[in-house]
Amino acid sequence: MKIRAAVVREINQLTIEDVELDAPKPYELLVRLHAAGVCHSDLHTYRGELRAAPPLVLGHEGAGVVEKVGAAVTKFKPGDRILVNWLPSCLHCEACLRGQSNLCERFPSTTLVGLLPDGTTRLHTLDGMPLKHYLSSATMAEYAVIDEAGAIAIPDDVSFEVGALIGCAVVTGAGAVINTAHAEAGSSAAVIGCGGVGLSAIMGAKLAGCNPIIAVDVMESKLAFALQMGATHTINAREVDAIETLRTLTRGGPDYVFDSVGAAGTINQALKAVRPGGTATIIGMHAIKTDVPIAVGPLVAQNKRLLGSFFGSSRPHVDLPRLVELYRSRRLPLDDLITKRYALDELPLAFADMEAGHVARGVITL
Ligand SMILES: [Zn+2]
Ligand SMILES: [Zn+2]
Repeated sequence: MKIRAAVVREINQLTIEDVELDAPKPYELLVRLHAAGVCHSDLHTYRGELRAAPPLVLGHEGAGVVEKVGAAVTKFKPGDRILVNWLPSCLHCEACLRGQSNLCERFPSTTLVGLLPDGTTRLHTLDGMPLKHYLSSATMAEYAVIDEAGAIAIPDDVSFEVGALIGCAVVTGAGAVINTAHAEAGSSAAVIGCGGVGLSAIMGAKLAGCNPIIAVDVMESKLAFALQMGATHTINAREVDAIETLRTLTRGGPDYVFDSVGAAGTINQALKAVRPGGTATIIGMHAIKTDVPIAVGPLVAQNKRLLGSFFGSSRPHVDLPRLVELYRSRRLPLDDLITKRYALDELPLAFADMEAGHVARGVITL
């Protein structure tokens, strides 16, 4: 079928064009998408900074309605509302069985390079060039074919927009606090970088009972969003020395520091700022092609911990439904996270707004 999609034919070349989407195979679903979140990972991929190389269709945060199911699908039927889980774990490899299904052994050769879990693609340009599905999802399009494991049911009272964000930004940020760092109630936390993932880490810190929760960014607009999401203090790192201020606010450094930026400067800032014996956690995929020199002295001599967090150390099939329920019981203010909506054709504007700090999270409505 012919669908409209956000296509990256080559690095730094984005077009919104009609493409051909093949029918789902036996274990797959055809989904009519209604919302797609605009994430930094899409922008980094468009610029060639992550592993999935073009040509591909962008988008990995999404939600919609199942339109058609393959012959072997048992868990879903046409008409079901779902959010897209871009980590369609196999649930039977060793990583999945030991409870680390965010590290499923099939991801490196499929999802992370832009293929469906069976290693193939259902997308082509109208002139016949195969297109990859970014993170097994390709949600910046009217329709997507995804593996059955890439869908999580959502109830009628969860909007497609909120569902889309739960599947990436929210699970990545909140999961880093709850699952990766295991921050405990009463501990102090700081979050460096207040985009969608950082704001979700702030929500996670509030949920975990952290106090204070200190937001660090260089844009006042993002710090204002942080206060709305549960930060108790903000630091504009362009105006004051962030490390010194963090130490002052927490009498020696926060127990937990989360870096959602993933740059050399912020990674070392997180490690320096955290108190002796504290935990610095690096979130997200942004630095995947970057080698960062680490200040090893304080790491060892001050017994600090430096952790990486991928998809919030979450087990998608367990933790995504939990986040849906936390939202429904008003413990996660996710409606406030969505600050602007765009048409698919406005994707370049959505990327520009994200970089300029105009939005907490932008969503494409389809
Ligand atoms: Zn994302
Ligand atoms: Zn697996």
